Amino acid sequence: MKRLIKDLTFDELKKWLENIGEKPFRASQIFEWLYKKNATDVMQFTNLPLELREKIDDEFLINSLQILEHQSDGKSIKFLFELCDKNGIESVFLPYRYGNAICVSTQVGCKMNCRFCASAIGGFVRNLSAGEMVDQIINVENFTGKRITNVVLMGSGEPFDNIENVFKFIEIINSKEGKNIGARHITISTVGIAEGIYRLCDFPKQVNLAISLHAPNNRLRDKLVPMNKKYPVEDIMKAVDYYIQKTNRRVTFEYALIDGVNDSIECAEELGQMLKGKLVHVNLIPVNPVEEKGFRRPSKEKIKAFFETLRSYQIQVTIRRELGSSISAACGQLRRRYFNISEN
Ligand code: SAH
Repeated sequence: MKRLIKDLTFDELKKWLENIGEKPFRASQIFEWLYKKNATDVMQFTNLPLELREKIDDEFLINSLQILEHQSDGKSIKFLFELCDKNGIESVFLPYRYGNAICVSTQVGCKMNCRFCASAIGGFVRNLSAGEMVDQIINVENFTGKRITNVVLMGSGEPFDNIENVFKFIEIINSKEGKNIGARHITISTVGIAEGIYRLCDFPKQVNLAISLHAPNNRLRDKLVPMNKKYPVEDIMKAVDYYIQKTNRRVTFEYALIDGVNDSIECAEELGQMLKGKLVHVNLIPVNPVEEKGFRRPSKEKIKAFFETLRSYQIQVTIRRELGSSISAACGQLRRRYFNISEN
């Protein structure tokens, strides 16, 4: 099977060219075609000699994704892509006032098995390579004709369970020869894998960190997020404190509000106590209902009360704009419907 050309960093491509006796400046030309012009076929690389294009074609695949389906609510667009091995992954295009964001998947399926999430239904299949993540951006840009300015790693999968490929992906899209997307416009969202948070402290790019907390204590979080047994709340908080101390960057906590489960005032108080005085931001997300899971959104009043309670602790809080719930935008739902994946 051919390698995907977008799995290579700029330096790796230069090395490959040198090895076959080509001039390194060809790497700049190729990156220009791949990342500035979003070419999806090597024959489009018209400033390269035909012979070199053929060599590239023998060795590499230029594009790894095909659109199987797309759905729009008029603003955001959800894509179901087919990978070369026929597996499916989802990405979501989200236009905002300040730019265009994409929600990228990092794995096919997921091992985390969070109770309210559809991604793990059907189990874990495999990691995505760096290039397969990059291709989500390229294909969404080509479809929409718009440039992506912000990237969130909040699609299916756990980024820190595929950390090498995720870091490589960030290097490629951040590099000026590549997509040149600012590190501060890239957000990694994690279920709370402490080692990953520590590794991110030493990662040379200033990307944002979001933690999917969803509960203020282990008793409740154990039930919603099985990974909490391995990385309990206090371990996550310790890693987050270290991250803030080391990077001086604000951390986002995501909290999916589920009716009658984690939306009480007591929960808000406990969360407020835990986070007050820290350089953090809480993003409240009314849960996207997933049929089999039986979870519902709290009423507007309950959401407001939770929000106000947190605010009384001088914590920055937002309620996520409800983009995409009408288009199965909750993680993994489109893939699940298309491939008829069910709970086992
Ligand atoms: N594994 C990573 C990133 C993927 S999930 C993580 O856990 O952060 C991206 C975010 O969507 C997480 O905060 C996740 O908990 C949340 N999420 C998943 N299913 C959801 C649903 N049905 N409603 C609301 N948020 C959901």
